[in-house]
Amino acid sequence: MEKRIYNFSAGPAILPEEVLLEAQKDLYSYKGSGMSVMEMSHRGKIFDSIIKEAEADLRQLLDISDNYSVLFLQGGATLQFSMVPLNLMPLPNKADYIVTDAWAEKAVKEAKRVGTVNIAASTKSENFVRIPKQNELKLDPDAAYLHFTSNNTIFGTQWKKEPEAGNVPLVCDASSDFLHKKIDINKYGLIYAGAQKNIGPAGVTVVTIRKDLLERSSDYLHTYLNYKIHAENESMYNTPTTFGIYIAGLVFKWLLNMGGLEEMYTRNLEKAKILYDAIDASEGYYKGTTVKEDRSLMNVTYKLPNEQLEEKFIREASVKGFSGLKGHRSVGGVRASIYNAFPLKGVEELVEFMKDFKEKN
Ligand SMILES: *Cc1c(COP(=O)(O)O)cnc(C)c1O
Repeated sequence: MEKRIYNFSAGPAILPEEVLLEAQKDLYSYKGSGMSVMEMSHRGKIFDSIIKEAEADLRQLLDISDNYSVLFLQGGATLQFSMVPLNLMPLPNKADYIVTDAWAEKAVKEAKRVGTVNIAASTKSENFVRIPKQNELKLDPDAAYLHFTSNNTIFGTQWKKEPEAGNVPLVCDASSDFLHKKIDINKYGLIYAGAQKNIGPAGVTVVTIRKDLLERSSDYLHTYLNYKIHAENESMYNTPTTFGIYIAGLVFKWLLNMGGLEEMYTRNLEKAKILYDAIDASEGYYKGTTVKEDRSLMNVTYKLPNEQLEEKFIREASVKGFSGLKGHRSVGGVRASIYNAFPLKGVEELVEFMKDFKEKN
């Protein structure tokens, strides 16, 4: 078999090897059906069991009760920037947003087309190096919801604990850390996540929504934009992204087989610690770009003494088979995305490379 590289891409990102091999085995003819998952009707028996199992496994991973609908939609997290306010902001049309990354800014941009956005907190003036504290949040008790971004893919910060919203429904963009640990779903009104970072291929977006919130969706909304329609049709109002849902389903099984999200979290903590310890032990040669207590377990961002060295680092790393390490253009430096599927061994080898590079440069 061909060799795989260490893929540190921020997204679309690495998938578990076991999942790829399983999909490969069944690609030509899915479990003796004589056709691939891509070629079969989404209304047929086989796909029906694929989507039902994917939902059941996701419910098991996160203990999602019957109070919540699970939807598999399209349009990425970006369409959710619009669907959330269109569905959840009834009159007087106002919602709270916490701005911790360029993604949250994009969510705000769409919400403003629907109603009044109150910026409950923003760390933009500090170049998003940290997550705001609870006592900094200017919350409106009458807001339709409070929106936050659990992991900030570009800047490399992450909420260790969700903000407290009181009785206001909490809405979360979890695109880059969904399923990296167990969360208490009952604290959330709605969670959405584009799949291509931590749960599957691009094209699927997972949404969990508390059922009472479905009542806010107006009949005047365009049909595809209406959560209630998707819930009533069990994500089959139109042709869903069948292959993406199938792969996400395999990822859910991979997580269950490993022991679930507690085990996944332990592994994620271990991987991130190795990398951050190496950064902190480098006597300032490598510098983390965020405050320590808000560091992301998923996207590890850091800088070298100057841009020339950063370019050299990324170039030499890529020759060694470490790909996707270049930081986002708005931050610069290095970004190592070490999502669920990223192997421990790859992190250990990167750390070896970092030590070696420092010695030589
Ligand atoms: C990648 C990303 C998005 C955008 O996702 P699309 O699926 O491309 O629309 C939104 N939010 C966060 C936090 C992301 O990491």
